[in-house]
Amino acid sequence: MSLPKLATIWLDGCSGCHMSLLDVDERLLQLTAMADLVYSPLVDNKVYPDDVDIVFVEGAVSTDEDLARVKMVRTRSRILVAFGDCAVTTNVPGMRNAFGGDAGQPLYQRAYVDNVTFVPGIPAVMPTERLPHHLPKTLAVHKVVDVDVFLPGCPPSADIIFDTLVALLEGRPPVAAEQARFGK
Ligand code: SF4
Repeated sequence: MSLPKLATIWLDGCSGCHMSLLDVDERLLQLTAMADLVYSPLVDNKVYPDDVDIVFVEGAVSTDEDLARVKMVRTRSRILVAFGDCAVTTNVPGMRNAFGGDAGQPLYQRAYVDNVTFVPGIPAVMPTERLPHHLPKTLAVHKVVDVDVFLPGCPPSADIIFDTLVALLEGRPPVAAEQARFGK
């Protein structure tokens, strides 16, 4: 019998939630016996499969690329876990919301002029060129797709991640994580 398919992705996050996942240490061996990690920054597969059972989504939705990725992931995954505070509330990436969004004059004013001691000035070539474009605001994951389980924390502890993952793989409701309770 084939194992459940597990995936993880990160959007606008610091990767700390994934580092906390790795902190389950030797219990990773237990997880490898329970699930097939089919897509993740931790493995080499570059194509997100069509039929993922569980996906952990780290990070907020900050760019057009994040938005397209999380929508694609939602359509191809049965259970979507908002993984960590950036995914659940926007947390750190959401701090830029106070300074304006795409094309970002207020944001760039803050980053390149207001907070710069030496040689302040907005660069002639903005860093958005050849990069994904910012959405007007950074959004929590549940604002753009349905979320099945919320796993708050910055980062969530390794124990909570492990318990949540095992519960979902065994078809039980996760105890520590919060079941979906926010509307879109
Ligand atoms: Fe990093 Fe915390 Fe955001 Fe996780 S919730 S991606 S640890 S800032």
